[in-house]
Amino acid sequence: MDYERLRKIMVEKQLKPRGIKDPKVLDVFAKVERHKFIPPESIANAYADYPIPIGEKQTISQPYIVALMSESLGLSGKEKVLEVGTGSGYQTAILAELSKEVYSIERSPLLTEKAEERLKKLGYTNIKIKTGDGTLGWPEEAPFDRVIITAASPGVPEPLLEQLSENGRLILPKGEIFSQVLTLIEKKTGKIESSDICACVFVPLVGKYAWKEKLN
Ligand code: SAM
Repeated sequence: MDYERLRKIMVEKQLKPRGIKDPKVLDVFAKVERHKFIPPESIANAYADYPIPIGEKQTISQPYIVALMSESLGLSGKEKVLEVGTGSGYQTAILAELSKEVYSIERSPLLTEKAEERLKKLGYTNIKIKTGDGTLGWPEEAPFDRVIITAASPGVPEPLLEQLSENGRLILPKGEIFSQVLTLIEKKTGKIESSDICACVFVPLVGKYAWKEKLN
């Protein structure tokens, strides 16, 4: 299969028409090999316009949503980023291309192991991954210039807000268990500003400062 061509089509037909403009973001989507993050049984759909199951009842998000979240973070290449919900590691790779370093936390030990192996094989040296409850953040490495939560949360987990640096940005799907609003939070001179981006549907964030275990 000509994956390079499929990536170009994904950029032209899924990302640009919906308003993704940042040339760095578009270039990275044309470069990162999404099919290497997809289970073998779904590889033919790797560049399709929808989320795909990755095991452990989890999904790799739709390319457009990954692009929208990445663009909304406004990355210049110098940032220290915290990602909550590594999943397949695809979003992690995109972030690693656009920032200085990425710290990523995944709740499922199996997904952590697979993502770590994949990202190492692909040659990324600016990513650290651990298994744990990402709603607690990564206090030893804080503060973070950017925080991205890739699972649905009823609110912004307090520790993550605390670990966000001054002038930092945090993005998350916030709302109910089956429907959320992609929300951008900005910390400006100690004040928190929040803006809605669009409606979305994510798998739940399960942890101390989000939904409780029994939902999964
Ligand atoms: N961005 C990922 C990708 O590119 O494959 C997809 C992330 S998936 C939509 C959400 C992930 O969040 C799942 O892998 C899930 O196990 C993880 N998750 C849920 N609650 C979590 C928590 N408290 N801490 C860390 N990860 C969590």
